Amino acid sequence: MKYRVPQLEPYIGQEELENLKKVIEKKWLTEGDFSREFLEIIKDFTGAKYAVLANNGTLALFLGLLALDVGKGDEVIVPDFTFNASASSVAFTGAKPVFVDIDEGNLNIDVEKIEEAITEKTKAIMPVHIYGQSADMDPIMKLAREYNLRVIEDAAEAYGVFYKGKHVGTIGDVGIISFFADKTVTCGEGGVILTNNKELYDRLRYLRNQGRLESGSFIHPQLGMNFRMTDLQCAVGVAQLKKFKEIKEKKIKNYRLYQSLLKDLEEVSFIEEVNYSNFVPFRVPIRVKNDLERLIQHLENSGVQTRRFFYPLHKQPCFNYLGYKDDDFPITNKVYSEGLCLPVFPGLKEEQIEYICEKIKEFYQRGQK
Ligand SMILES: *Cc1c(COP(=O)(O)O)cnc(C)c1O
Repeated sequence: MKYRVPQLEPYIGQEELENLKKVIEKKWLTEGDFSREFLEIIKDFTGAKYAVLANNGTLALFLGLLALDVGKGDEVIVPDFTFNASASSVAFTGAKPVFVDIDEGNLNIDVEKIEEAITEKTKAIMPVHIYGQSADMDPIMKLAREYNLRVIEDAAEAYGVFYKGKHVGTIGDVGIISFFADKTVTCGEGGVILTNNKELYDRLRYLRNQGRLESGSFIHPQLGMNFRMTDLQCAVGVAQLKKFKEIKEKKIKNYRLYQSLLKDLEEVSFIEEVNYSNFVPFRVPIRVKNDLERLIQHLENSGVQTRRFFYPLHKQPCFNYLGYKDDDFPITNKVYSEGLCLPVFPGLKEEQIEYICEKIKEFYQRGQK
């Protein structure tokens, strides 16, 4: 179906095309000048000392976990409410993901509930900065120090998000950002791993490039795999990073317009904005008091593409083997049953947002007929 308002449209155009043309003309497709520039801009902007690229956010998490030596017999604490890759990347190392419920207001991991999930096997905590705001990192870092745990930040959705002035992904031992098509800045597929730790950086460099530091050599001092990107992707990425400010401002403006248009509708509420983080909206996640599924259908019939909230990890069929009980996650169950995401992409027009809000109001004011 062709949507009148799709969920997503990347903010790409002339600048990306021009950079791509340069790569083609230069006939250098693998990591090269654009990859270096991409990394430099990211390091400069985030303040990370070191950064390496990965094929996508999922593999960036996997690579980060490998660098931290997470594997069989280990446990990693992950919020129950996140995209599946936060936990599948843990499972693929052979370790066990351990789920923790979230804060109902801001949907990030409930820091009060982390300590009780720590066991002798716990190796790391993975806070996820969800929907464009930071998790509360100070208490997490404090616990990590107390219990001698590693911290890997999933900042896949959080380029441009700062926790008390520090870019997310640079606070723990390692942090990752995704450049998938629906993220704030995109290369189609892509990812980066940030760290301030030289030892981890060196490990990451070997792991990501076939166990050697320089491509072109066939001597592999360590075991590694291929986690590289291409210069075509990074050419798009460089253009995107240069537009970040514009992208951010447009997303915030769109988000605020939804808020003002829906403010009098008591069935709808927005997530809580925390004071220790800025906000770069990833979507417009709203909670509704009733009739979620019929509202989604009503919007779908009106040509508006919505997305439900992330499916709680403890309910995921692929994690059945962990044997979680549904009752242990009252908050993720509740928010999942009430939540939906509206589009916020930069190219969205004011009239489109007005149209969506009209349709939502119409649905509730008609008494959900
Ligand atoms: C998108 C996303 C990922 C995975 O990133 P990809 O680049 O799509 O592999 C991981 N965690 C979260 C929270 C995400 O939103």
